[in-house]
Amino acid sequence: MTLNVKCPECDGEIEIPSDVISGEIVSCPDCGMDYEVVLTEDGGIELKPAEIEGEDWGE
Ligand SMILES: [Zn+2]
Repeated sequence: MTLNVKCPECDGEIEIPSDVISGEIVSCPDCGMDYEVVLTEDGGIELKPAEIEGEDWGE
């Protein structure tokens, strides 16, 4: 079974396995953005943009 979550970037649908764990990275099939899955306390799923490793943010 999968859950569909809307991509915050392009409004496309991202399929997420129902046994997803918090912190898993999913990609949007439409725009290619990577998101980290965050499980909320009420059983919902939120996506937050995954930080790309290897970028130098100059901090
Ligand atoms: Zn997208």
